[in-house]
Amino acid sequence: MLLQKKVALVTGASRGIGKAIALELAREGADVVVNCIHSEQKADDVARRIEALGRRALVVKADVSKQQQVEAMRERVLEQFDGVDVLVNNAGVHHHVKLWDMDEAEWRSLLGVDLDGVFFCSKAFSAEMREKKRGRIINISSTVAFTGTDHEVHYAASKAAVIGLTKSLALELAGHNITVNAIAPGEIATDMTASETAEERKKALELIPLGRIGQPEDVAYAAVFLASDRASFITGQTIHVNGGEAMF
Ligand code: NAP
Repeated sequence: MLLQKKVALVTGASRGIGKAIALELAREGADVVVNCIHSEQKADDVARRIEALGRRALVVKADVSKQQQVEAMRERVLEQFDGVDVLVNNAGVHHHVKLWDMDEAEWRSLLGVDLDGVFFCSKAFSAEMREKKRGRIINISSTVAFTGTDHEVHYAASKAAVIGLTKSLALELAGHNITVNAIAPGEIATDMTASETAEERKKALELIPLGRIGQPEDVAYAAVFLASDRASFITGQTIHVNGGEAMF
């Protein structure tokens, strides 16, 4: 196992990609803090599955877009664990809104989760990592950070900002033996993409050379690798998990 005696926190781990990452980290030996904002029952189910693997699990409900709630989550984590070794900034929201229909509240609320949340959690949870002189931060960005998209400028902007944040944090934290990397998923089958029409799904599939939509586990395997000692010389990078949809 790659992550024995490690503690991981995965934001937005009640569903989708975050859930798959939490379970894969646990399969590799990590104890896992499962964060959510609304779906406490689902987060509890994820925690039970982690415990069934013989690991410890802690569910913490917190809105990552609110710094006070992130700080309270850190206090809660420190009651049970000696900090976290692996932070996965996964929580995210995504809304199809055209520029002309996007008001300030919509812009700010999405950036609050998808960008501010990454900043608040990285700041809070890197404190113990810096003391221990080891850690892993993994930020979930998106292919649209690189390609753009025609219906959600706020989402693409936040995910592109996460790449800049990742590189800068990688530089700031390298001296503390903390690596910071991003994963940019393409089309992954989760609740976030479930509302697509059959036509939209068909169009999306046509763009993927490997001929299938990604599964949450495809992203989780990349996260496990970045969290492991095998990735100790990799920092400031982005792994693209997109079936070949876009190549950089
Ligand atoms: P999802 O199925 O909609 O799940 C979103 C998760 O984020 C849920 O656990 C949700 O918690 C949590 N969350 C939302 N707002 C939060 C907040 N303010 N504070 C804490 N947790 C919050 O999404 P997904 O598809 O798994 O996406 C996960 C990440 O991958 C996101 O960052 C997304 O942008 C990125 N991504 C997804 C795709 C894709 O095709 N699916 C592609 C590229 C990138 P609750 O259950 O409590 O609501």
